[in-house]
Amino acid sequence: MKNRKKYWKLGRSEVDTEYFDINKQGQLIVKEGNYQYNLLDLVEKFGTSLEVVFPFIVEQRARHLMETFLSEFRKQKYRGKFWYHYPMKVNQNKEFILPLITEGAMLETGSANELFLVKHLWTQNQFNPRIRVMCNGPKTEAYLNLISQLRANGLSIIPIIEGDDELDYVKKFSGDVGIRVNIVDVKVDSHWDKRIDQFGFTHDQLLGLGRIRNLKVLHYHVGSQTEGSSDLVALARSAMHTYIELKKINPGLDTLDLGGGFAIPYEKRPLYSVESMAKRLTRMLKKEADEAGIPHPNLIVEWGRHVVAPAQVTIFKVISEKNIPIKAGVKKWYTIDGSFMNDLLDTWAIHQKWHMVPVNHANAKRLQGVWLVGMSCDSDDKYTAGGEGISLPRLEDLPPGESLYFAVFDTGAYQDALESSHCLLSSPAKIIVQNGVVTLARKRETAEEVGKLFGW
Ligand SMILES: *Cc1c(COP(=O)(O)O)cnc(C)c1O
Repeated sequence: MKNRKKYWKLGRSEVDTEYFDINKQGQLIVKEGNYQYNLLDLVEKFGTSLEVVFPFIVEQRARHLMETFLSEFRKQKYRGKFWYHYPMKVNQNKEFILPLITEGAMLETGSANELFLVKHLWTQNQFNPRIRVMCNGPKTEAYLNLISQLRANGLSIIPIIEGDDELDYVKKFSGDVGIRVNIVDVKVDSHWDKRIDQFGFTHDQLLGLGRIRNLKVLHYHVGSQTEGSSDLVALARSAMHTYIELKKINPGLDTLDLGGGFAIPYEKRPLYSVESMAKRLTRMLKKEADEAGIPHPNLIVEWGRHVVAPAQVTIFKVISEKNIPIKAGVKKWYTIDGSFMNDLLDTWAIHQKWHMVPVNHANAKRLQGVWLVGMSCDSDDKYTAGGEGISLPRLEDLPPGESLYFAVFDTGAYQDALESSHCLLSSPAKIIVQNGVVTLARKRETAEEVGKLFGW
């Protein structure tokens, strides 16, 4: 049994599976403190395909991130403040955002519609007034109006300027503002491997802008899932050099916002820890600031994926199997009752790899390598783990009448907002488990509901 837990890489904090275990019957369980949930029970009650959200994981990860930086600041006598701003685009569902806010997270929005949700909470008096919101993304008129309106209503809100066309707005805006630097001197190894993106100003452009009214924050964000820890430090160092120059022209500048990028070990090989990153970033920023003779900047991180990805799993049932007729690394297709293209779109879009673990029969004696196929009629609707396949129990070994279920880990980041309706398949149902209570957050779509989306 111990070996099985090890085989499925469960119970290991360095790969974000510390909450998961398997019981004697080979069923996947999730531990919230001294309480535990049996995922097979949930599947039998709610059916598949099923998303299971664990707000307690979101809370623990956000708290850990903030506490780690604060303790590192103390240890290294770093005198700036630290804030975590949660980037809403990573997962805008209420069951993610409310727990984050209650843990003390600030927010970051990327569109007027995300800010509209902030307005909803603000006008209903559901925020501690000390909350602060950063606004990124193209500033449409609707977005700018909403920013001004919320500021007039007392919300602390900072628009981040990303292009020339937004500079005029800033001249009229009476509150603090930020500006985005486009870092072009660090090459990052990630899926979004590029020298330059469409957001912000380069170092030289920024210094050419002269004085910017009420400039408080220098921000950058370079891609997501940055797997090299040194890349994260190199980006921050480059931004810090810009910060030092920019502060000579704009003495009010006092905050550096590192954006997102902290990677998830999707393949369950350890990458780097919050502890090590907090230590390295703090040391570097302190050294740079001390050498330049300026106060230590306040620090913001917007690591979204890191905080929310492990807080959701998506469970599918294997509905049939089929032989692969040619010589390939594996011999079988398993068809699932869901769709990679619809429900886990990054599988298709960026060839995302996932960790998958059986929900039942995880202690089966024999496993086999399989490729997975979604239910849409699209030949791209599959998951082969780059060709290698994934290991799952053999269907012929299951007791008669039993089905095989498996969980895809780390599905809490980005997948929900990308969900689509190819072949008019229904999205997974969604449940929330917290404090021993299970709540249905989204019913499985009916044929009528999906049809309605298309005008029927
Ligand atoms: C997408 C985004 C993030 C989150 O990135 P992660 O890689 O998920 O940490 C943070 N800040 C901004 C401005 C973003 O656009």
